[in-house]
Amino acid sequence: MTNVTSTWIEPADSATALLLLGRGSDPDSERGVDCPGDLPAPSDPDLVARAAAAKKALGDRVFVLGHHYQRDEVIQFADVTGDSFRLAQQAAARPDAEFIVFCGVHFMAESADILTTPGQKVVLPDLAAGCSMADMAVLGQVQTAWEHFEDLGIAGDVVPVTYMNSSADIKGFVGRQKGVVCTSSNAKRALEWSFEQGSKVFFLPDQHLGRNTAVLEMGFDLDDCVLYDPHKPNGGLTDQQLRDARMILWRGHCSVHGRFTIDSVNEVRERVPGVNVLVHPECKHEVVTAADYVGSTEYIIRKLDEAPAGSAWAVGTELNLVRRLALAHPDKQISFLDRTVCYCSTMNRIDLPHLVWALEELVAGRVPNQITVDAETASYARSALDQMLLLP
Ligand code: SF4
Repeated sequence: MTNVTSTWIEPADSATALLLLGRGSDPDSERGVDCPGDLPAPSDPDLVARAAAAKKALGDRVFVLGHHYQRDEVIQFADVTGDSFRLAQQAAARPDAEFIVFCGVHFMAESADILTTPGQKVVLPDLAAGCSMADMAVLGQVQTAWEHFEDLGIAGDVVPVTYMNSSADIKGFVGRQKGVVCTSSNAKRALEWSFEQGSKVFFLPDQHLGRNTAVLEMGFDLDDCVLYDPHKPNGGLTDQQLRDARMILWRGHCSVHGRFTIDSVNEVRERVPGVNVLVHPECKHEVVTAADYVGSTEYIIRKLDEAPAGSAWAVGTELNLVRRLALAHPDKQISFLDRTVCYCSTMNRIDLPHLVWALEELVAGRVPNQITVDAETASYARSALDQMLLLP
């Protein structure tokens, strides 16, 4: 390997560095709103040793999952790292682990509960670790939209597709309506399958992944897509718009990826000659269109692994991951696409004190913050997930 010091430059702090999500009481949230635990102080110098000791004491009884966007202080204790679906699959592949400690967000822990055996207990170290995108699609709103489709006589033509980043309730709804779950890696295949089942797709909850996949990968026009706003009567759409649409996109987005703008792309191209702009498909359509490469988290990791030494990259995804990739590839010039800091604040709720607390509770014979999905919802959600696994 070329011996080069990392060129990583930390972005500037910004007022929205940790977007204030998950604060206060929010009855519509798919996450909890508070962590009831008696947490160790963040300043405790023994936190690393305590986490290691608790994990050792639990041995094979515990399996710790760490999402790619998680903090370094937590990732160091993960038995496996990955995106949300890979982590849920990894949990399912470890039926002997009594406890799955999911260092991710609430919908991911729900998916792990759905895919693991009934005897396994899934623990989320902080109940306030939710996902703002998942919160943007609430079951009652989605049912109201569907009833409107039924009244219009189009529901039979519509196949619902939900991104993995949605609550178990929404996955259950999609399973009931014989739809499919998708990830950012297989969204195109999910849409191809869906358009074999019906003439329209109802895409939840990320408008950007739905639009980017339909337009850039499937050849649809932007005019084939309409945006259903759950806060407006009839989604803010006329009956004719709904009848004509091929893609009905839910008005949801990721608060992290939604922050990248066309100005970020133009600015980095001026600042770094020859830079390759690499972004996640949760970014806005104009950002994805202006980028050189677009793909899932796993694609981004692979692309940077394979990039030639000396190449320059500006990466539009969550900052913890981009920083780790930059430090892992000191022979490449990797920078964050935006000049200001932006983490997934809810993912970052899980810090070392929460992990230590959760592991020590398990050692003491108590199961903290267990995430469970009721059997009926889990069964329908599982059928939508199974349909995804059957995609060609
Ligand atoms: S990065 Fe975006 S989509 Fe992922 S968990 Fe955070 S808010 Fe949700």
